[in-house]
Parts: sequence; C-alpha cells; structure tokens
Amino acid sequence: MGFNRGKVDATKRGIGPRVAPKRIVYEPIARTHFWRKLRGHFYPCWEKFLKKTNIVTRRRFIAMGAMGTAGVWTGCSDAFGARFIRGFMNEIGRPIARCKSTPKPSEWNPNAITAAWLGHASVLVNFYGATILTDPVLMPRIGAAVGVGTVGPKRLIAPALAVEELPKIDVVLLSHAHFDHFDIPTLNALPAGPKAVTARRTGDLLTDSAMNCPTELGWGEKTTVATQYGDIQIEAFEVRHWGARWRHDKYRGYNGYVLSREGKKIIFGGDTALTEHFRPLRSDGPFELAIMPIGSYKPFERSHCTPEQSVQMANDAGAKYLLPIHHKTFTLGREPRGEPLERLEAALEPERIGWRAVGETFVIG
Ligand SMILES: [Zn+2]
Repeated sequence: MGFNRGKVDATKRGIGPRVAPKRIVYEPIARTHFWRKLRGHFYPCWEKFLKKTNIVTRRRFIAMGAMGTAGVWTGCSDAFGARFIRGFMNEIGRPIARCKSTPKPSEWNPNAITAAWLGHASVLVNFYGATILTDPVLMPRIGAAVGVGTVGPKRLIAPALAVEELPKIDVVLLSHAHFDHFDIPTLNALPAGPKAVTARRTGDLLTDSAMNCPTELGWGEKTTVATQYGDIQIEAFEVRHWGARWRHDKYRGYNGYVLSREGKKIIFGGDTALTEHFRPLRSDGPFELAIMPIGSYKPFERSHCTPEQSVQMANDAGAKYLLPIHHKTFTLGREPRGEPLERLEAALEPERIGWRAVGETFVIG
C-alpha cells in the first residue's frame, strides 16, 4: 500500500487504539455561584476592615444614609421646607440692594396724615402727630434664630430706615406672629416707649422686648392709646389668614386694624386672602387710606390676596387711597418680582396708588 499523504484518519495510522479526541467544555459559572463566591471573599475582609478601623459603625451608616436622603430631598423636592433651605443657600453672599428714598419723619407735619413704606409690611405712619409703626421688620433676614444668626429669607432691599433712625414711636401695631410680620430681633431692638397692640395670644413673644405689656385684641375688640398729641382708637377686625408661628401654635390670632383719630380713619389690612370682612367696614368710614398686601399670592392665594383682590377689598371698605405692601422686600411667593405692582397699576386708578417703591412717602394734607 502506498503512503497516502492526503487526508488520513489518525486512527488508521496504526498508532495505538482509537481514542475519541478530548473536547474541552467551558461550562458557564452560575451567576449566583459567582456572587456567592465573591461575597465569601469580600465580606470577611470588609467586616475585618470595619472592625479594625471602626470607621463605619451602624449608627454612622444610618446617619450617612439619612444625610444622603436629606440632601436629595433638599435638592429636588417641591415642599416648602426644601424650597426654604434652597432659597437660604442661594442667598448666601447676595448683596442687599440699597433703598433709593429715605423718609424724613422729622419734617412731617403733625397736622396731616403721612405714611412711609419701610419695606414689606413695615409702615411708619404719622396720624396727626401720633406715630404708629406697623409690623416692624428691619433686619437683613427673617426666620428662626439659631444662635449664630437667623435662618430664613434675606431682604432684597434694605429698610428705608434703620432702627436707630426711627422717630419716637407711640404704637407698634402687630397683625400676626408670622416671621415676616413679627420680627423678634427688630422688636427687641426698639427703644422703650411704644405701646404694642397685637393679635390674640401673641403677646408672649414680646417678653424680651421693651414692649412686654402688649394689648392683645381679638376681632371686634378695641383699645385706646394715649399719645402726646391725643388718643388713638384701634379696633381689630377679622381677615382671612392664619396665626401659627410654628406648627404647634395654631391658637395664635391674626388681625386687620382700623385706626381712628381726629374724626379720620385708616385701615391696616395686615396679611389676608380675599375676604368679605372688609365690606362691613364701609359703614364706619370714610377711610382716608388702606395699607394693603398685594404679594406672595402664587401659589398661596388661599392666604394672600392678588393685587386685584386687594383693590376689591379696599373698595369694599370705601378707602380713598391704597398703599400697597407685602411685595418687593422678600421672595416669599413665586410670582415675578415686578408682577404685583404691574397688576395693581392695571387694576386701580394711578392717582389712588399711594406709592410704588420702598422708601416712598405718602401725604394727605
Ligand atoms: Zn402671614
């Protein structure tokens, strides 16, 4: 037989018995088996490391988890608390704009009504010589005191007058205990002398101030304050708002006020949503002016009126002039900063709008 150099079966070459070629089978390692094995290696080392270093205790692990969750909540949530903290962080380092107008109370005529907007709901009123300061908030921030400072919204614009620039005050009129109306640092900084008139069950907050014997008024209640220029009658009326400073103190009251003197009357609306309670005031009028909130209505229309609603309430009471407050000073609502005034201009005759900027003064001779 000749030697076939072509295709020859190895088994036919006569080299040993016929043996089936070995096939290497690559069995896939089961996934669970792999992880179990890895875990078996990894966990003892990890536990050993933790025990040795004591870096991550169970308590620390829980704390880190909580911090991570809080961080995600703060960054993404639409809840008030998260927006509040985001706002606080964003405002660090932002300068406070200078107020362009400065009221000059020393030049005011004691035989007239003069009012100056100091910012937000703070208005300095000369009511035929008697001086009233409403909801004084004159510090750079409002909110909770945390020892090293105040945590809360920062002013957009400086107050038109600092505490030390205020004239002698006869009455400090407080509508309710919310932080943007009832600022303890400002109240504590005021010199002794004024009589405080405040809403029901809010006087306890004045313990550390010079006005530690306030008169608390419920709706429909009146008081008379004597000044060197004569008496002022102050009557509280119901508005649509709420009084809790924190979550637990829902018992606190909230007021609007009517001030009467020399046969003239003015309204301080405080903080309110649209309500029918201004309508009955008309029979006690006429009112020379109404100091009315116009901002923070988006999305809080259930507690803060829109500019149009503010006009409607001032008209319900029959007020001659509307002095707009509660806008331009802090970012509290989500409406654009200039919107409240634009809407007010569209809703009311221009000559009935008392002022347009923080620091402006309005006079009725
Ligand atoms: Zn309020």
